[in-house]
Amino acid sequence: MSTELIRFSEVTKRFGENTVLDDLSFTVDAGRHVTLIGPSGSGKTTILRMLMTLERPDDGTIEVGGQRLFPADEKRRREVRKGIGMVFQQFNLFPNMSVLRNITEAPVRVLGMSRDEAAERARRLLDMVGLADKEDARPSQLSGGQQQRVAIARALAMRPKVLLLDEVTSALDPELVAGVLDLLRDIARSTDITMLCVTHEMNFARDISDEVLMFDSGRVIESGPPEKIFTAPDHERTREFLGAVL
Ligand code: ADP
Repeated sequence: MSTELIRFSEVTKRFGENTVLDDLSFTVDAGRHVTLIGPSGSGKTTILRMLMTLERPDDGTIEVGGQRLFPADEKRRREVRKGIGMVFQQFNLFPNMSVLRNITEAPVRVLGMSRDEAAERARRLLDMVGLADKEDARPSQLSGGQQQRVAIARALAMRPKVLLLDEVTSALDPELVAGVLDLLRDIARSTDITMLCVTHEMNFARDISDEVLMFDSGRVIESGPPEKIFTAPDHERTREFLGAVL
């Protein structure tokens, strides 16, 4: 039996006159890997940012694990938000902290983990992402691909139920993309973490996703398993979009 983990109900989001999400409803079951595709500006990143509580909807409700994220009081929101991790296009590491400290900071401050326990976990994660020898480095001493691996380890250190991935390879040199995508494939295969992924890497989306949501103008215009969406989409708009990116 699948359990619903994320629910957007009739969510509307505007920036000024621009209605970015328009009465949007969708759900994601626990453990699923869902990819959001669609033209630039169709609201995909805004969805991830709302789950991260970096933006708030103007209307509608967002629930995670049966708990309200919006609308909700600040205390409740912070609690729900603890279960959500995000990896950004631009890594967003703390530049003045070592790699290890980047990973241990939130578990210590937000989860109240001891420094020793956080460091032990961080070292295991660094080993998993292939950077065991870089714990004392500063982010600026690492390649983009290595920085993104640290960002992935940092997100996982919080033991999130949900991992949000926002165009995580867009800022990388082409030769570094495959390594990061392989790591994410491994994580998708070896954990039960729920993933929501915005990407233009259609091969990756095809590999990793249980479900693809095609967005246009702030709505999901079609959804389904990747083999359906990528080979026999129902909508002309999806065909056009895939024709332009594949
Ligand atoms: P996508 O991820 O599909 O490319 P986004 O969610 O990033 O789309 O953006 C959707 C729309 O919202 C775009 O028109 C974008 O310019 C606008 N937008 C996003 N964030 C802001 C913001 N903070 N202020 C004003 N407009 C924004």
